[in-house]
Amino acid sequence: MGYFRSVRFYKHLIITVILIIIFAPYILVAFLFRSNLLLKEQLHSADNSLDYTSVFSLDSIIMPSVVSSPSQYYDLNTIKLIKDSLPYQKKYDDLYVERKAFIPSESNEKIAYLTFDDGPSSLTLKILDTLDEHNIKATFFVTYKDDDLSISIYKEIVNRGHAIGIHTATHVYDEIYNSVDAYLDDFYKIYNHIYEITGVRAEIFRFPGGSVNTYNNTIYKEIISEMLRRGFTYYDWNVDTGDGLKGSTKSSIMEAVKTRSIHYNRIIVLMHDSNSKKETYQALPMIIDYYKENNYRVEKLDSTVIPIIFAYRD
Ligand SMILES: [Zn+2]
Repeated sequence: MGYFRSVRFYKHLIITVILIIIFAPYILVAFLFRSNLLLKEQLHSADNSLDYTSVFSLDSIIMPSVVSSPSQYYDLNTIKLIKDSLPYQKKYDDLYVERKAFIPSESNEKIAYLTFDDGPSSLTLKILDTLDEHNIKATFFVTYKDDDLSISIYKEIVNRGHAIGIHTATHVYDEIYNSVDAYLDDFYKIYNHIYEITGVRAEIFRFPGGSVNTYNNTIYKEIISEMLRRGFTYYDWNVDTGDGLKGSTKSSIMEAVKTRSIHYNRIIVLMHDSNSKKETYQALPMIIDYYKENNYRVEKLDSTVIPIIFAYRD
């Protein structure tokens, strides 16, 4: 007759079962309370935008992954971390400028920035003279040229107090927008050229065709991000004078300036400084007068001016 067949055994068994039935809910509650505390700690150090009321509901305890796991935002299985810099980020370790804070203009202040792309040209010195006569400072986004006249023009732009920015060395769309590497190679060439000639490390630039165009569709975001990472600031425009169009005239340019400028207090005006754009040069005094008469301050760009840029494509 052993213990397992005795009346004592059955007595103990019944008592044990009763004790389990009585205490099980308390053990369960203690367990749930503990997981709740753990959740709270995780959330406290993680995302404070989560709805805290749901944390304390039974739902969140039964399905803690709903609130505690970041996998609701991204798939951990497909995320890859970049362990090293991208190859083009390692290029040209002297191609960096210090980013400055943007300085907002007064909300109702009227201000216009005249910009000239594609120079130097046979017209640049005339443009500079006109600007001097009107006591106006402008911005020149230049390309690469190394003849004596062009070299003296880069210097004139800087010496007369205007802003000089990068427009690319070659301006050949198929080449510069072929890859981030190709863009950087081109940019580095003209950037150094300008620095060697003028002593200016250009901090501002303009994309040929504007930052978002049909040639850089697949790559513009990556180029922009790389250029911003290096501290450079780019400017598109909100008033196109149309001087780049075939058959543009002094009066078509003035008409474009008038009809497009009335929408804005802050204006970046797109013009061209190239051998064939006599109309731009001829219209310039009228453009300056227009902005003065309409109470715009006419200024040059620098990297503290909040950019006017094109929206990314949807
Ligand atoms: Zn251009």
